[in-house]
Amino acid sequence: MSLHDAAEPVDSCITDQGCVVMQQDWATGALQIIRRPFRRLVTRRGNQDSVSWSEGTEKDRWTESLKNAVRPHVYRLLHSGGPNFTCPVCGYVGPFKDKRMPAAAGGMIRRHSKCVGCGSSERHRILSLVLDDVLGQWNPASRSLLHIAPDLALQPRLRRAFGTYHAADLFQAGVDFREDLQCLSFASASYDSILVSRVLMIPPDLESCIREMRRVLRPDGMAIVGEAWLCEHTQEYGGLRDGHSRRLGADTIRMLQQHFRDVTLFRAAQFDQRYQLMNRTYHGDQVVDDYPAITREVGVGYQELVAVCRP
Ligand SMILES: [Zn+2]
Repeated sequence: MSLHDAAEPVDSCITDQGCVVMQQDWATGALQIIRRPFRRLVTRRGNQDSVSWSEGTEKDRWTESLKNAVRPHVYRLLHSGGPNFTCPVCGYVGPFKDKRMPAAAGGMIRRHSKCVGCGSSERHRILSLVLDDVLGQWNPASRSLLHIAPDLALQPRLRRAFGTYHAADLFQAGVDFREDLQCLSFASASYDSILVSRVLMIPPDLESCIREMRRVLRPDGMAIVGEAWLCEHTQEYGGLRDGHSRRLGADTIRMLQQHFRDVTLFRAAQFDQRYQLMNRTYHGDQVVDDYPAITREVGVGYQELVAVCRP
């Protein structure tokens, strides 16, 4: 099984309101966001750490805020010998953390994956850079964005940037609308932009998702699609497997081209390496780079790719 089959079953980030944890039920694929004012509990059973979260006190909140402020500086001091990177999401400069993937993904590691400042990973950082590129010509303060299955690392920035920001998901708590991407309830041409990232491998009907993304966009709008294109040809599972309906292939880009007039691809290799947009995937000491030509970085792993689609 590939590293990317499992995506990220658990994600977390720290916001002004508390610690936000995203959990996924592997049996149903359901995603749930939990906002907790901070107490993180780690229980060790055998050689396995189990992390849980408890309701904290005001003191916990204050302590966690302090730790968040100090953590990047301490990490930088303790890991000063390694390569330094720059996070385009939060501006942190220094070493990034390795990310151990869940057992369902074969226990692989992505080296230099996670920003210590904001928790962003490779996909969040390339999305941030692509947004810089495409929004610069667009005045987002006068535009609307529909964010499907909102990424916690990017959400604060998008809320600030767009005149209208709506988050939607079928399962996730804390969104503005409970929506199924296969059959959105919005009128046609409702939004200036729509953002989906690590979504299209989940709903059973992929074609309907792409058709709906196109339908709700205004004629001068754009869909920003940041998926994991893991193989040449999409492999349908014929049911849910670990919460996913398929392994997404590079041929999905051709589907996007059938529904949108213009599809512009942004690949990690075209951005400065200081942003660390390559999934440097390792199984032990072995590089895992068996990905389709469009996303494979030979001897390195998987490079992020974002498609910006215009009607
Ligand atoms: Zn960051």
